[in-house]
Amino acid sequence: MKEIKDVSKLTYTHVQGGQFRWITVSTIMLALGTILHAVSPSVAGVTPNWTIATYCVAINLTRPTLRQSLGIGLVAALINVFTSKSALPYGNLISEPLGAFTCAVLVHYISNLKIGRLNVMPILSAFISTVASGGAFITCLYLVLGLPSNVYWNAMWPLVLMVSLCNAVVAPFLYIPAQKLLARQTVKGQELTDSSDHSDLHIVPSVKAPIVIEHMSYRYGNQTQYAVKDINLVVNEGDFLVITGPAGCGKSTICMAMAGAVPKFYGGTMEGMVFINGKAVTQLEIPDVADDIGIVLADYDTQLVTMTVAEEVAFALENRGYTAEAIQERTAIVLEQVGLTGLEDRNVYSLSGGQRQRLAIASVLAVNPSILVLDEPTSSLDPEGTEELYRLVGSLNRDHGITVVVIDHDLHAVLPYANRMVLIDGGELKIDSSVEDVLSYMYDTNTYVDALPSLFVTYKSLAAKGIDLDTPWLSLASAQSSLMKGER
Ligand code: ADP
Repeated sequence: MKEIKDVSKLTYTHVQGGQFRWITVSTIMLALGTILHAVSPSVAGVTPNWTIATYCVAINLTRPTLRQSLGIGLVAALINVFTSKSALPYGNLISEPLGAFTCAVLVHYISNLKIGRLNVMPILSAFISTVASGGAFITCLYLVLGLPSNVYWNAMWPLVLMVSLCNAVVAPFLYIPAQKLLARQTVKGQELTDSSDHSDLHIVPSVKAPIVIEHMSYRYGNQTQYAVKDINLVVNEGDFLVITGPAGCGKSTICMAMAGAVPKFYGGTMEGMVFINGKAVTQLEIPDVADDIGIVLADYDTQLVTMTVAEEVAFALENRGYTAEAIQERTAIVLEQVGLTGLEDRNVYSLSGGQRQRLAIASVLAVNPSILVLDEPTSSLDPEGTEELYRLVGSLNRDHGITVVVIDHDLHAVLPYANRMVLIDGGELKIDSSVEDVLSYMYDTNTYVDALPSLFVTYKSLAAKGIDLDTPWLSLASAQSSLMKGER
């Protein structure tokens, strides 16, 4: 394993939806090949081998592994076995996997072969793969059917070479439109090709904490601009951290990085690293992260998938293989934690917005994550629902030891529970400090002042007029106590 000393130099690129794309694209291309095979006329007895041409295009577009390419070849062989009119259809079971494998070897070992702006790999690989596949097929015919060797050499091989030339000619006509239609994420028209692989790197955080973000910069796959730049942030055990900042400053991107969805779901390029419980996110899969970190999104209704309250909580547990008794036990515990005991059989959509929000939290808590991340959780709640939600989240933090990260721009309801605050602006972390320090920074630098709680603005205005108030007004309670002290 290669030891990484400086994570700021690490770059990780992930191509969105890359994992199964080779299956989708090769299925589409092979279907097209089957249709073309049925309708294309032959010229002087020669026609392109559309099956080989189309799987070569699919392999050039998606660059599957050698083993995956054997799978593509096998599917192509089965199509040919059932549609071929040749004397030995089963010969395709050897020739097509060989053709697909040959194409994959060429694509992997000779990449980016261009003449001017034309990528010649589809042409070259279609030609060589057809020679390999066609050659294997006629050799099977020759050996199994005992054909005369002069037919084999003087009639069959020239035919294979003619068909290979035809395939080389048709390949770019299939490749260019297919690339346009089926292209993945592009940046300035340039397709992102491979995802990075960090599996053989030894990457460790500089400090031990549940979430450590070190020098993280990130660009979404289809963007040239960075969404966040050089973020350094440590979430400690037991923290109640509020991340705030204007719309579009990168708060949700940081939240998604904590869930492993950036970069592994959204794709794109990440520099630096995010560590979840000491493990680099680029070495984790998103479901692994979900066991440690529960995420509740602004649009929490999209997280609810079943009919009743109890089923909703059970769903997450069933997916992770909990036993029936464990499911019952955990469901009772989390519904109590979020104050929904007694509503087990209620239809999810008969609940109020605030109750559905609590249910979304309960289903996330069901698998016992140590960290809860809430991204603008109150955006569709009324002021009363907001107060109630933060009372609940505050108690999960204080009484149940759950580390909490909240992203919100509506600060007054959440701040009484927070021990730390971070301000993001223009993709950069401006300040990471106590609530009072961050609010003062926002007030003093005139940054995102619209979000400042009115009590705090009043406190600062009074302080600026020389009125001595020894406790900052972070909540109604602290303002009252400060005024009471003043009276005495
Ligand atoms: P915030 O949560 O503070 O509103 P975001 O993290 O959602 O900010 O967005 C930061 C930047 O990243 C914005 O410029 C936004 O347009 C961009 N962005 C967010 N999500 C995506 C996405 N899925 N694809 C491309 N760009 C995105």
